[in-house]
Formats: sequence, C-alpha cells, structure tokens
Amino acid sequence: MKKDNYVVTNFPIAPFTKEKTARLTSIILSKLISEKLKIKNILSINLLHSFKNKKTNGFIKFLNEIQLTFDDYFIDNDNINIIIEKIQRLYDEKIIIEKSETIIQCDCGLIDFPKKALKYYNNKLFKKINNKYICTKCKKGCQEKKEKRLFLKISPRYIKKIKCIPQLYNNNFQQFNEYYSKQELLISKSRKTGVMFKDYNLDIDFFWSLFLTTFNEENIIAVICNKHLFNIYIVDYLAHIFHKKVIYLIHPYIENKENIVLEKEVFKYDHLFMKLYFIYNNKWFSSESSFNKGMLKYLAKKRKIGREKLYNKIIQEEEYIDIYEFLNEYLKKQLIFQKDIYKIKT
Ligand SMILES: [Zn+2]
Repeated sequence: MKKDNYVVTNFPIAPFTKEKTARLTSIILSKLISEKLKIKNILSINLLHSFKNKKTNGFIKFLNEIQLTFDDYFIDNDNINIIIEKIQRLYDEKIIIEKSETIIQCDCGLIDFPKKALKYYNNKLFKKINNKYICTKCKKGCQEKKEKRLFLKISPRYIKKIKCIPQLYNNNFQQFNEYYSKQELLISKSRKTGVMFKDYNLDIDFFWSLFLTTFNEENIIAVICNKHLFNIYIVDYLAHIFHKKVIYLIHPYIENKENIVLEKEVFKYDHLFMKLYFIYNNKWFSSESSFNKGMLKYLAKKRKIGREKLYNKIIQEEEYIDIYEFLNEYLKKQLIFQKDIYKIKT
C-alpha cells in the first residue's frame, strides 16, 4: 500500500522522443524514489511552451513502453484555471504587483528584461555594440520602452532555507536571495504567451513554477537537474506561501562525453538495464557526471535475473524516522555501482 502523506514528482518537462533520452534522468530518479519509499509518483509535463501543439502526443505512451508508469499527472495546460486562482491570491496579497519599468526588448521576444536587471542576464542572449543591445537570435537592435508590467516580490516573510539534497547549492540560493530581496522579478512578457492574467501575458516559466501548489499533498519530494537552480528558488518560494513542505533532490546533468548512442546501446536491453544505467551514472553528490561506457559492459554481463535482483535490492523498503536524513543517507551511501554489482552473482 502506498503511503499517502508524501508524493514525488519531477519538474515539468516538455515531451521528448527516444533520441533525447538523457532527459529521462529526473523521471527515472523520481520513479526510483517512489518505489523505494512506496509513495505516489506524479509525472509533471510542460505543454505551454510549445505554442502550437498542446498535446502529450505519444510521450506518456513512450514512457509506459519502457515501464515508466505513474500514479498521476500534472499537465500545465490542464491546470490554467487553478493556477490563475493562485496568481489572483498572490495579487490580492500584493506579492504580485503592477509597476512601470524601463524594459529592453527585441522583435523576436527573446530579449524582454528590465533595463536595470540586464547585467544579471546570460549575455549569450545579446551583444552590446555601440551602446545598443543586439539580440543574438533575431540579430536586431533592442528597443527601450517604459511599460506597465507584472512583477513578483520576494518577501522576506516567505523566504526560508531551501531543503535540498545535496546541499552543494546553498550559496547559489543565497545569491538569489540577496539580489531579489532588493529587486522584483519580471513575470509578464510583451509577446503573446498563451496565458493571460488581467491584460498581461504571463511568463510561462513563472506560470508553471506554481505547479506544486496544485498538488493535494502537503509533503512533496521534487527531483530536478542542477541546471535549474533559479527555477528551484522560485518554485520553493511560491510553494512555501501555499504551505507546501518540499525536499528537492538535485542531480547533475549527465553528460555524454564518451558519445554513447543511448537509444541503441542502452535501449536494446530490458527496461531495468536502462533504469540501472541511469541511476548508477548519476553522481548525486557531485555537480557533474557522465555516462560511463565501462558500466555498459558490466551491466550487460549480468543476466536479466541478476539485474532484477539488483533493482529489487535498491528499492527494498527500509524503516526510517526522518525522511530527509534517510534520503540523504540513501543517496550518499547506497547506489554505489562498484559495491552493488559484485553482490549480485547472476
Ligand atoms: Zn530577438
């Protein structure tokens, strides 16, 4: 029976195909945690970023085919009304405010930032030539306009220490705090985004950042890659306002430095081979990891029954008192390939 006081999920992900398998990491790890703790697993999907086709298409089917199944789904597009209600509450409480601000923007919409925040943005997005900002996508000069926009205020009242494993990223979160305690975050866009609040086009990244607040459960474990630290910061701030208690499991992006053709070399085996391969290649307590070719050989040497034994061993239920301490120990001291592989004889 599944315990009903906790739920585990990934951060909303856009549907992808078999060729983009590296993106499976969060989903596989979320499934692992759900099986280990015997808790509900929700797949979170982001469709609002794809402007034309707001369908999951074959995505859920593709995941089911590789035995990634879920108890429930969060799909941003199906939750517009409930999230707009939350936004109205934030607006009523003056956590979301309207304000006139000088905005720098280009024709294609890639550049759309408050002028005073520009120095904090990724400068791969624009070049500064003769004191003019040029967008690297549409190659056009940006305009400067004073406009009324929506902003999110980061109120010290709702800031708390982010509960995450590992704690490698505390400094990054601290930096966001320092900056946004003085500055509001722009959350509406000049271009059409497909989601409106009053007369404003909402930034989709902000919109889905309220996803945890739509969950019935109060206690949530969220699995996410370390490339999205700012999203974690905003998601946690909003979750806290709506009384959610969240533990973030932050994994590195698994690089493919040895150019392994995952969809051939990993998918030709059974689904447990694939799950184990992702689980063991992920180095939880490091800020980076890479798919390892040698591990393919070792896993392939085991028979199917051996891989089943290995997976069953790592999802074996254990007693615990504090879930955070338990997860910290589990991710740090178990799931070590060199240790586990030799314990399995078949
Ligand atoms: Zn542009």
